[in-house]
Amino acid sequence: MANMTDSEKKKASPKKTPTETPKLKWLSTKLLDDVFTDEVSLFKPHFTVDYDAYIQRLWDSNPDIYEILKSSNNLESARDAMYTYLEKAERKVFALDNDLHILEKSTVRQSIRVFRSIIGPINEFRTEFSALDSLWKLAQNKREELKNKISVGFILEFINLFRGVTGKSNIYLENAQVKKGIPDFLKLKGRDAAIERMEILDDLGSSVHKYFKKYPSGLEDEVIAWRKENKSRILRYFKADENNWNDYQWHLRNVIRNAKPLLELIELTAEQKDAVDNAVKNKIAFGITPYYLSLMDRKLSIGYDHAVRAQVIPPKEYVDKMIEHKGDRSVTFDFMGEHDTSPIELITRRYPLISIIKPFNTCAQICVYCQRNWEIESVLEPKALAGSKRLDEALAWFDEHKSIGDILITGGDPLIMKDYQIERILDTLASKKQVYRIRIGSRTPVVLPMRITDNLIQIISKYHRPPKLEIALVTHFEHPYEITPDAMNAVRKFKKEGIGVYNQQVYTIENSRRFETAKLRRDLKSIGVDPYYTFNMKGKEETKRYMVPIARILQERKEEARLLPGLDRTDEPVFNVPKLGKNQLQAGQDHRLVMVLPDGSRVYEFHPWEKNISPIPPYNYVDVPIYDYLEELASRGENIRDYRTIWFYY
Ligand code: SF4
Repeated sequence: MANMTDSEKKKASPKKTPTETPKLKWLSTKLLDDVFTDEVSLFKPHFTVDYDAYIQRLWDSNPDIYEILKSSNNLESARDAMYTYLEKAERKVFALDNDLHILEKSTVRQSIRVFRSIIGPINEFRTEFSALDSLWKLAQNKREELKNKISVGFILEFINLFRGVTGKSNIYLENAQVKKGIPDFLKLKGRDAAIERMEILDDLGSSVHKYFKKYPSGLEDEVIAWRKENKSRILRYFKADENNWNDYQWHLRNVIRNAKPLLELIELTAEQKDAVDNAVKNKIAFGITPYYLSLMDRKLSIGYDHAVRAQVIPPKEYVDKMIEHKGDRSVTFDFMGEHDTSPIELITRRYPLISIIKPFNTCAQICVYCQRNWEIESVLEPKALAGSKRLDEALAWFDEHKSIGDILITGGDPLIMKDYQIERILDTLASKKQVYRIRIGSRTPVVLPMRITDNLIQIISKYHRPPKLEIALVTHFEHPYEITPDAMNAVRKFKKEGIGVYNQQVYTIENSRRFETAKLRRDLKSIGVDPYYTFNMKGKEETKRYMVPIARILQERKEEARLLPGLDRTDEPVFNVPKLGKNQLQAGQDHRLVMVLPDGSRVYEFHPWEKNISPIPPYNYVDVPIYDYLEELASRGENIRDYRTIWFYY
């Protein structure tokens, strides 16, 4: 066929039958030297992998470890030999004649520390699993004795750990400068060095902008035009007009509570439709404001709105789990253990100077991965407002706890309450001498920006009296696509009064692609919102689909957020550990990896914020497997090579 023209080749090729599997390049798994360079299937549920080949790669990644495991007669002698090996490996890093790059040495030290922790008997006891035992049995070819099925995700964790231990992480493999040795600019001085360095910085800078283009915000002309059409279509559907649109009460009256209007206004997948129907049928909280609906693309094929949809359209497994736990939801899904940190109704307290008050237990719409989905009964639930007796008692409680000076009013969404109700709470709290800050936690700028009326601003700003009392708004944008001219105007109204607006983002599968959250930070700053926290998602069964491994949040911080100017990355990655409160994920001394389970999930030991103050016990947290996360990214069209260093974040 070599001399044929393209059309001749086409004719000569046998026609595919519809059942034939197309031989696409990404359906194969290439076994390459570098474990990160797989060309893998982009289809869920699983990468196409050759299990035995992966086992072979595991041993090839560190033949010394393989020898130790193979030649040990039992688990304990394997453990002893492994400790000896790791000690030698560590001493090698500090030897004078070790010519590994100093950054690679840092990876070696980290990998050794992690491996030592994983083979520690106390960690095996606490996690009820021994990764070392599984590795030993695999090396001994005693697979039939393995109690658990060892996943490819587990094997990949150890391939990378074994490589890390010997200084072959290949983190810098694709860096052209590293291939050449020391970067050229370091061999020069002064202006010459600076000019030489420009090439590297320009390359990095342009790659950031290339990624940013993938995530348009709602402030871009094209998106504004689409949304104008969306708005007209929604108004036509409700037989309403522009005045109605600008009236937040109209939106509250017309919150979408079932799949019918959705189906008429946007395309839904069959799974989305069924999940909504099932949620409604089983009285699982569901609701979308007409405004938020206007942020969704009419056609599924546009796809920029994935985070917007995912925020409010529940996945099937979420609905199933919520139905399954209907009777015990308040216990099963109280992941934060709020029952144990609530000294009196409506109040939660985990810190000495801060407390939370929750006067209103519902919202304008329902976020699928809401931390309080166990207590929010339905959208705009009439009984959600605390009665005046309960509220008075909660407000009076602060008089007995005078160390609390920073109070967060949250819920639900407190800005859905009536103006006079908001005023009453603010007035009471502001009258307490110890209170120096009142934070209002509200998603209204994102889901219902017309709620930020001039009257509301007037009420709130009355209490903003620096330096005695500060009012701050803490909101929750998840994605650049949620940032619109309306949201910007809502934020501007607070800023005009000198009220700071901060963002708490939850890091999920919907905003965790390369530079997706970096773009969110950039766009937030452009409308006057300061990024405040990036939360690791709670490990709750019903929302597992959204979860991102902790390694990714750390990778994002190091390889993406760090590339932004400091004023754009004012947030901190945190994990709100059940019962313990916030753990700063970048503080390496406050958590450690203690085990890798058969499915590839890592177990971390998280230390309390009280560490070195009070002896509160730590919390063992089982993360989602990195491999599963990469699979999900691949199924969304991501090139997982872009994430290749993820394995080395602990
Ligand atoms: S706005 Fe906040 S409280 Fe309300 S459903 Fe969403 S996450 Fe939960």
